[in-house]
Amino acid sequence: MHSPLPSLVLLLLSALMPLRRTGPALATAYTALSDTSLPRIPFPSLADINIKSGGLLAPILIPRVPGTEGNRKVRKHFTDFFSHELPNWKLEFDFSNFTTPTSNGKEVPFVNLIARLDPPNADHRDVKRLTLVAHYDSKLTPKGFIGATDSAAPCAMLLHIARAVTPVLESKWADLVRRERDEGFFDLDDPMGLEIIFLDGEEAFENWSDDDSLYGARNLAQAWEHQHYDSGKNLKNRLANIELFVLLDLLGSADPIATIPSYFKDTHWAYKKLSNLESRLRAQGVMKSAVNGARNGKTQGWLFEGEKREDEVWMGGMVGDDHVPFLQRGVKILHLIPTPFPKVWHTEKDDGEHLDLETVRDWAGLMTGFVVEWMGAGDFLPGPPKVEVKERLEKLEKRGEEVVEVKVREGGPPESRKTEL
Ligand SMILES: [Zn+2]
Repeated sequence: MHSPLPSLVLLLLSALMPLRRTGPALATAYTALSDTSLPRIPFPSLADINIKSGGLLAPILIPRVPGTEGNRKVRKHFTDFFSHELPNWKLEFDFSNFTTPTSNGKEVPFVNLIARLDPPNADHRDVKRLTLVAHYDSKLTPKGFIGATDSAAPCAMLLHIARAVTPVLESKWADLVRRERDEGFFDLDDPMGLEIIFLDGEEAFENWSDDDSLYGARNLAQAWEHQHYDSGKNLKNRLANIELFVLLDLLGSADPIATIPSYFKDTHWAYKKLSNLESRLRAQGVMKSAVNGARNGKTQGWLFEGEKREDEVWMGGMVGDDHVPFLQRGVKILHLIPTPFPKVWHTEKDDGEHLDLETVRDWAGLMTGFVVEWMGAGDFLPGPPKVEVKERLEKLEKRGEEVVEVKVREGGPPESRKTEL
């Protein structure tokens, strides 16, 4: 992606940009998780994201320039992951060819991979999807560039999210089917699904420009714009299935600790939900990564602009990245990229060794929680609610010749609430 413009230019542009109108009603059933559900959000284990052996991340930490063997290998890692572990996801490819400033007139192939999970029996044309996006290609230079934050780690986060939320969504949908059978209740008029896009060709081969960058994203946005649906359908084309396009980029470094501005006014409501979820997960100690110091008396998390005012600076669209071709076609964007960028950005130091694994883990868990809240699926998280059990001395009872302490536990299951010592 391309660095933001100087702040003075930003200020001017922000003042000139018209307010976006609010779009049609959203299908999201966004429901914040209860305090007791927060610790049930599945976070990846450190073994999952180990940079040498981790099943999710390690295979992506190789050079993967478009059209090369490394690029093909990483794509195969994704398709193998879905076909072996998550066979109910539908996979789709988007192919294109472009010449680049370094290809000597030859066409380079670019391959986007799209994976989606829709509710049972829903017509795919009707499904409104939460669309999570990262690019999987790596930059041609410097030689051997790994791009761990750019964007191997975000891709691994997306794999974790897919694996963690699949059973949650499938339980929710199975419950709807059961309720339809037993109670005549089944409401999928507004079906919601989840989609993950791994984009190819985000990086420039030479110098960032409109023609030398975003190869995969440009092709996909255009292709989906022209994939029209029948006039009888609620949604007009494939782009309209995207309810929110969430782009993860340059995540996984703790130097500096990420600060993610709220870039777009029209999706600030979603930013705010995510910011709130982060604060609650940190308050409970579920998220353990380092944060910046206090700001206005509160600890500052990554999503530090939850309370942003309308008249503050909104940098939406100023950071060139994969969302741009979609933004230009009216898609709603939540851009999760830090400003400033990580110090390792576009250097040979952006490798596995420079990742902060607590940061990678926490992003994966936070975004898993966001998806669960977005889909209103908190009741279907795995495991019993983890309830904090508080013990207190209730009373002393005389039993024959003995005096017995009776302890009362609060908050646990009924059978464990009273114990005797
Ligand atoms: Zn980059």
